[in-house]
Amino acid sequence: MEHIIIIGNGISGVTCARHIRKLSDKKITIISAETDYFFSRTALMYIYMGHMKYEHTKPYEDWFWEKNRLELKRGFVEKVNTSEKTLQFKSGETMSYDKLVIAVGSKSNKFGWPGQELEGVLGLYSKQDLDNLEVYAPNKDVCKRAVIIGGGLIGIELAEMLHTRDIPVTFLVREDSFWDGVLPEGESGMLNRHINSHHIDLRLEMNLKEILSDDKGKARAIIVEETGEEIACDVVGLTAGVSPNIDFLKDSGIELDKGVKVNQFLETNIKDVYAIGDCAEQHEGINGRRPIEAVWYTGRMMGEALAQTICGHRVPYNPGHWFNSAKFLDIEYQTYGWVFAKPKEGNAHFHWMHEDDKKCITIEYDIATREFKGINTFGIRMKHETFNNWLDEKKTVDAVVANLKEANFDPEFYERYEKKIQEKFNNQSVPA
Ligand SMILES: Cc1cc2nc3c(=O)[nH]c(=O)nc-3n(C[C@H](O)[C@H](O)[C@H](O)COP(=O)(O)OP(=O)(O)OC[C@H]3O[C@@H](n4cnc5c(N)ncnc54)[C@H](O)[C@@H]3O)c2cc1C
Repeated sequence: MEHIIIIGNGISGVTCARHIRKLSDKKITIISAETDYFFSRTALMYIYMGHMKYEHTKPYEDWFWEKNRLELKRGFVEKVNTSEKTLQFKSGETMSYDKLVIAVGSKSNKFGWPGQELEGVLGLYSKQDLDNLEVYAPNKDVCKRAVIIGGGLIGIELAEMLHTRDIPVTFLVREDSFWDGVLPEGESGMLNRHINSHHIDLRLEMNLKEILSDDKGKARAIIVEETGEEIACDVVGLTAGVSPNIDFLKDSGIELDKGVKVNQFLETNIKDVYAIGDCAEQHEGINGRRPIEAVWYTGRMMGEALAQTICGHRVPYNPGHWFNSAKFLDIEYQTYGWVFAKPKEGNAHFHWMHEDDKKCITIEYDIATREFKGINTFGIRMKHETFNNWLDEKKTVDAVVANLKEANFDPEFYERYEKKIQEKFNNQSVPA
């Protein structure tokens, strides 16, 4: 019987395994160094904040795996030998495969900062990171201050987590406005004010120089590169992005760049070896999307597509229009299509902000054709399906704004802002 080995029990690996099982009788082994069972990484923050227990983050009961003949193996794969089709574990064990799926996710970036390996310095990615956070930041008496390095979606989650336990947070952000490499200035500016309003000490245009140790090898302070200031702290959160977790593949012959290089069928340069999820890097971004997309739903979609290919119905991975959602403290964020920090050449932005400074939208559109390219919404929930259809139909920005109420997520419970948005849109001068 053909043996499929999947390294990684995250959303991409597990989805792939489930779908292979639906379609075939193949022997399937899922390997993970992190946890015995699949859990929802996106829910890590809610465990620390006390909304859920770890057990609640497991989407499947523990009996599910055996019942579906999905063998689980705990261990760290140290080497892949693609000519012999074997894996070597850190423990010394080996295992052979017929087909190999690499679904090893990401790791937190570390940029060689002095002190980055000290105790109390952690990322926010793995279950182990969460366990560490409980050790070093269980409360404000043990952790008198935390410093977070790097603004972005994970940094703001960590800030919120610590904040719920009243732990003072200093947030060092390299950019001159929060996440302004991704967000237009109106949105980024609103988030700066929102973060400050939560008494989080946001320091823009500041980088980490080094982390200082106490006499037991634990972080006790950081030094700011630009000012030389020493900030005393008990925890340093490294949240300056993530990158594919592929160091162990260096000598495998599998083509690597930032991630594992794959084509649209998620095949690598080596026969019978595939990559999916955060660690997969497309040779060319599909339909203008980024070659690596470290988000949950793309991992799931890749897992589903690859299962088809492995079971003999070769299907390309086709992610459709970009979308994403997140939360910045109290403000929900959604994005559909493309809204760039600065409009792409030939495009313009329409921006509307509510007077409460907690809700805004930005629409990107083509000036010449008026084609709607994408929308960011903050503090207002809108329907994914509606925007997906409008992007498919290449609607004009005028039609989108005129019909915004169709995208209203839940008219019964959400206040409506379409009128105000339309007024501003109709009164603005047309960009040249
Ligand atoms: C705190 C946080 C919040 C997030 N929130 C969101 C969100 O709101 N929305 C969203 O879309 N995305 C979110 N993401 C991103 C999302 O969680 C990831 O894109 C997704 O989990 C990646 O899934 P994956 O299957 O590719 O890899 P992973 O979930 O990382 O799974 C890979 C597994 O492989 C294991 N592994 C790696 N190397 C080896 C090896 N050599 N041997 C054995 N095992 C190995 C790892 O330990 C890990 O368990 C968030 C991520 C984090 C960290």
